[in-house]
Amino acid sequence: MMRCIADYCADHNLPILTNPSHKINIYSPIKREDRAYSRMRLRVTRLHGDYYKTVLCPQCNIHNTFEHLFFICPKHAEQRLELSAGVIAAYKNPLIINRDSLLMPPSGIAPVVRLHVFKFLRDTGYLDKI
Ligand SMILES: [Zn+2]
Repeated sequence: MMRCIADYCADHNLPILTNPSHKINIYSPIKREDRAYSRMRLRVTRLHGDYYKTVLCPQCNIHNTFEHLFFICPKHAEQRLELSAGVIAAYKNPLIINRDSLLMPPSGIAPVVRLHVFKFLRDTGYLDKI
């Protein structure tokens, strides 16, 4: 495979790539964060409703959806307060926090909003479970 890529690069006068990976992290340089955020935006998480099988919240024993995790589950109330404070400060105006405000923020504040979402996922233990 590497030989083929090297040949292609030489034939087309391109710099030879030593890392054949074409994956570019869009939302975070940290792969785990980028993967989690991408999955949430695409609605292909391992949470209920995005997944092919039923997923229950271990605390509440009801469907563990994106909305349950981020906005309802009492287990994550403390982390939710931190997330809300950070996101409201980033938006700098009255705001209803919902899936779109977390996952589709305006480009000017997107890096800040994403940092708060990543922190929420880390603090709740969901970064690698999404
Ligand atoms: Zn719950």
